Formats: sequence, structure tokens, C-alpha cells
Amino acid sequence: MFLEYRISTPRLDFYDITPKVREAIAESGVKDGIAVVYCPHTTAGITINENADPDVACDLLIGLDKAFPDRAEFRHAEGNSAAHLKASAVGSSATVIVSGGKLVLGTWQSVYFCEFDPPRERKFFVKVMKDG
Ligand code: ZN
Repeated sequence: MFLEYRISTPRLDFYDITPKVREAIAESGVKDGIAVVYCPHTTAGITINENADPDVACDLLIGLDKAFPDRAEFRHAEGNSAAHLKASAVGSSATVIVSGGKLVLGTWQSVYFCEFDPPRERKFFVKVMKDG
């Protein structure tokens, strides 16, 4: 099953989309398999990281800013190459396990939509596939 979700991203941030992934799994009726969460944008991405302390996402954004600062020598006319770099570093998708009809994540993990070039109206896809 293939589902599309829309998300408004008013600011540079990690948006917890775990409830939507759970919803997609429930809607699919798949008991055991995998789900792929995919971001079809070039300045946003998908990652899995800690949900317990919101400062972790904040620190990830700080770290990505340090690792990929805007540079005068960048040539891309849109002027958002740093956002493209962050999107490539984080990646466009996450693959998660579905077991017993449930999303399998670590206790402190969530699935995040990562916005690097706000504000935007975005979408992401969830494809749920059963074993065998
Ligand atoms: Zn661009």
C-alpha cells in the first residue's frame, strides 16, 4: 500500500511523523513486513532519532549547520545549497520494520521529516509491504 501525506513546515526543524507512519501501517493491514518512508524533496529529508529530549533535534540542526555552512563559492542560483547538502547528508528515506501490525522502533526513537529550507508545503510517502 502506498500513502501520501502533506506536511506544513513553517520553520527549520525536525517534525515527528511517527503517528502518520503508524497510521499508514494500520491502514495497510500489513502484520509483518517493512515500511519505507520517503521524502520527494531535495532540501528536506527523513531520519530516525531521539524523541525523548527535544534538545537532541535542536543539537542535530546545530551540528548540521556547522558541518554544512552556507559558502560564498556555492554556484547554485537558488542560494540554498547548504539545505541541499543537509538533505543529502540526512537522506531521503527510512526503512522501518513492521511486526505484529506494529511499527518497530527503539524506545527513544521517532521518525522525523527534516526541513532544511522553510517555510514549505511538503509531502512524504509511506509504502508498506508485507513479508513474502
Ligand atoms: Zn535549490
